[in-house]
Amino acid sequence: LVSREFKATDTVVQVRGIPFGGRQIQVIAGPCSVETPEQMRAAAAGVKEAGCRLMRGGAFKPRTSPYTFQGVGDEGLDYFRDAADAYDLPIVTELMDVRKIDLFLEKGVDIIQIGTRNMQNFDLLKEVGRLDVPVILKRGMSATIKEWLMAAEYIAAHGNHRIIFAERGIRTFETAYRNVLDVTAIPVMKRETHLPIIVDPSHAGGKAWLVPHLARAAIAAGADGLLVETHPCPEEAWCDADQALSPAQLGTLMGDLRKVAEAIGREL
Ligand code: PEP
Ligand code: MN
Repeated sequence: LVSREFKATDTVVQVRGIPFGGRQIQVIAGPCSVETPEQMRAAAAGVKEAGCRLMRGGAFKPRTSPYTFQGVGDEGLDYFRDAADAYDLPIVTELMDVRKIDLFLEKGVDIIQIGTRNMQNFDLLKEVGRLDVPVILKRGMSATIKEWLMAAEYIAAHGNHRIIFAERGIRTFETAYRNVLDVTAIPVMKRETHLPIIVDPSHAGGKAWLVPHLARAAIAAGADGLLVETHPCPEEAWCDADQALSPAQLGTLMGDLRKVAEAIGREL
């Protein structure tokens, strides 16, 4: 269902009137995690001011260690919803547990993110496949293109065809940076699937200074959008502080990306 063989023309996934997969490039920005109502308000202001049209933020965090901050939980969706609504930004947040689906629906989450660690959580994929909510499916950190496509197939096979792929860097022998952004995957995915693909340069690079480089490369390579981490005060972020852009850095990046987009006949 997700392959070009099934459908030759590009699919545009609409999220509250915002198209993913057409001429327009979408940048989703926001903090790694939802922290406080004040932090979310400030983050939303920065995201809007920079010209991004959607906001990200995790209330439930898949952390490597069970002893680190796990996300603020249920109430985080309220902080997120209130802050994003004040700036009319649709919200993107990660779902890790099927038991939270009703809560996500109740809060009107606009895009459900399936994180890298859950790309092959097939029961989770089947359940989001039954929903009428767009899904961002991140690539597993060691997943092949084929495995990624088949994971999306689980969602589509259960009825939900509003899928946006997200490349977020893969694991290799290299340890100098967080992950290796697989730029090659962008044109390959555009060839294999009719669905949109976006790139997360933040989790790929793991450092704020790397984010603009990877973001420009992603757009130049044909990505339909980006998922970028930003925080009103990066050094104080509760999670992934090293890779968060300040609101000013996000604004500068948007300006640079606009030029790249224009050069390839797209708009941002
Ligand atoms: C995230 O986007 O918040 C996240 C945890 O990313 P990933 O699943 O790519 O590690
Ligand atoms: Mn993060």
